[in-house]
Amino acid sequence: MVLKRSPPSFPDPWSEPGEEEIRREKARAREIRQTTWWKRRLARGRCHYCGRAFPPRELTMDHVVPLARGGKSTRGNLVPCCKECNTSKKQLLPIEWEEHLRRLRTS
Ligand SMILES: [Zn+2]
Repeated sequence: MVLKRSPPSFPDPWSEPGEEEIRREKARAREIRQTTWWKRRLARGRCHYCGRAFPPRELTMDHVVPLARGGKSTRGNLVPCCKECNTSKKQLLPIEWEEHLRRLRTS
């Protein structure tokens, strides 16, 4: 994944997790991808956000709170997500994404 945002000009350890930490969390996510727990979630074939059904191979792993915003690779923060939602989530600002989700739920 390429971060579009340029690095901050001064260190801000509270809101910007270090590269090392992000690397560690990504490695953990890769491990979790191999677990039965995750495979079962995929087998349900449903996107966590839009709730539509997909073949498991079309679902991706998403961090509800992105790693770049201090999210962790924990079971509570990892959800199956369709490519469309994944793309929207990356492109929208967090507040726009929330709005998008509200629309999905009420429509
Ligand atoms: Zn979706």
